[in-house]
Amino acid sequence: MTWPTIHKSDEERAGANLPDYEAGARAFSWRQARAMLDGLPGGGLNIAYEAVERHVRAGRGEALALRWLGRDGSVRDFSYADLNALVNRFANLLASRGVGKGDRVFSLLGRVPELYFTALGTLNNGSVFSPLFSAFGPEPVRARMTIGGARVLVTSETLYRRKVEPWRADLPSLETVFLTDCSATPPTGTIPLAGALEEMPVTFETVRTDPQDMALLHFTSGTTGRPKGAVHVHEAVVAHHVTGRFALDLREGDIFWCTADPGWVTGTSYGLISPLTNGVTLVVDQAEFDAARWYAILQDQKVNVWYTAPTAIRMLMKVGASVAKRFDLSALRLMASVGEPLNPEAVAWGLEAFGKPFHDNWWQTETGGITISNFLSMDVKPGSMGRPIPGVEAGIVERLPDGGVREVGRSMTSGELALRPGWPSMMRGYLNEEERYRKCFAGGWYLTGDLAMRDAEGYYWFIGRADDVIKSAGHLIGPFEVESALMEHPAIAEAGVIGIPDPTAGEAIKAFVALKPGFAAGEELRKELLGHARKLLGPAVAPKDIAFRDSLPRTRSGKIMRRLLKARELGLPEGDTSTLEGEEH
Ligand code: ATP
Ligand code: MG
Repeated sequence: MTWPTIHKSDEERAGANLPDYEAGARAFSWRQARAMLDGLPGGGLNIAYEAVERHVRAGRGEALALRWLGRDGSVRDFSYADLNALVNRFANLLASRGVGKGDRVFSLLGRVPELYFTALGTLNNGSVFSPLFSAFGPEPVRARMTIGGARVLVTSETLYRRKVEPWRADLPSLETVFLTDCSATPPTGTIPLAGALEEMPVTFETVRTDPQDMALLHFTSGTTGRPKGAVHVHEAVVAHHVTGRFALDLREGDIFWCTADPGWVTGTSYGLISPLTNGVTLVVDQAEFDAARWYAILQDQKVNVWYTAPTAIRMLMKVGASVAKRFDLSALRLMASVGEPLNPEAVAWGLEAFGKPFHDNWWQTETGGITISNFLSMDVKPGSMGRPIPGVEAGIVERLPDGGVREVGRSMTSGELALRPGWPSMMRGYLNEEERYRKCFAGGWYLTGDLAMRDAEGYYWFIGRADDVIKSAGHLIGPFEVESALMEHPAIAEAGVIGIPDPTAGEAIKAFVALKPGFAAGEELRKELLGHARKLLGPAVAPKDIAFRDSLPRTRSGKIMRRLLKARELGLPEGDTSTLEGEEH
């Protein structure tokens, strides 16, 4: 099925931060974007200063920066001035312990208020912030903190005892551990954070960081293999700010909710930095996904802009559009999604449930911020990731046998998605992995490892990760297309598609599906699904086999791990599973 384009009204266009995509992109320069921010008094650029102190100095200290919703129903509000004081206290605390510029500060925390001000306090002090998923087991925590040369860790007593204490002696660089909550007898070698903060002054002069100084260390999701530690610098804040403004359409005073886990890059770029630089109120929910709770948050907090992920949208779809309709969601202006391909079915479901589509956007840990997006003012083609952010040049390339690359044309071409380096949030390296980093570049392009198609109007369409693409009977088949076709069947909640060796076709397509409530797995449904896929895709591209699963293996950032489906199917070693959801390592 081809999905009709969703047109935007003149009113929607006129009100958007980027009212005319083409004109905006033509007029844009990163130099002008930099001028939207203040820079440090006396020179330099620091993410934390732009996120918080700048607003306080401009007289916006009383505005609400963060509304934290506790799992138990409690609410804590922090104005920009409150947040500034806490950020400064933590920066003072680090400085008082001799932690300085470039030193690595890790967090191992769920969505608790401490995460937000310790992250920014770290940056304010010129130190480097690196977040970890609180659900990681001891080994992934140890491995990442060792690679990063952690000097400080902020965590809770429970997480510390289970995930750090067993190997602490192996990492002598880890001098200081702060605990956000602790019992009367905290473990030896740890410091209760609350008490230590109380003794600190509420003012701090932001450490003079250069735009090119390292600020953030983010590990990739590990979907395709061993995670990489991407290095980002303070200048990234320019891209965080601009993309928040253009792609998420953030406006001062907005209520913004980003549902990403703080343990991956979205949680920092858009769960923290971008919204605050744009002067909005950030809603943070401590609890895990729950459809009714989520709708209640959207309604009660009057969320204007909501940034979520396909995996969450598919869970909402499972519950049904009728649930959404019970809530007053009239404050919602923009709904955006990132992290995985967003099936056209899900975009259209947005229209049914909310009266507006989900806006897909594409980026990676490496790009540090949104690089391809559907904008509020731009017509949405369901299934497309949208068009490049102003200031980012994208292209479709093919790799040549001599190690170079060639652009394959500007219209209706498919190949590897490539970006011209030069936007501020681009990674500056993979920590301690120079060779792996170097391999990402050729012919003046950054090669993303994703395959995509560019249409005549410059919209980009995701095909699949280069590693996941299936070669069957002479066809190159992207799993996304097959998965999206399967998703159009009412029984299917989610689908993951892989290629398995086949003596005649080279590879045969196999699909793994999880069903919506009310549907029973069985031979009859399997046949029906195979027929449905054949009808939509044709025999060359349809799966030869479909297997039912209760759920599909995914990373903690919500991405289906096709390589794991494949390894399990073929009885091969599973590789790095440190980021696999639902398992302790
Ligand atoms: P690793 O690099 O360790 O294998 P990863 O690529 O999943 O893991 P991330 O940086 O978290 O790590 O994810 C970026 C990737 O997620 C992109 O390269 C792309 O494959 C996928 N992705 C993100 N957004 C979209 C989107 N809107 N549509 C399709 N794919 C997306
Ligand atoms: Mg990747």
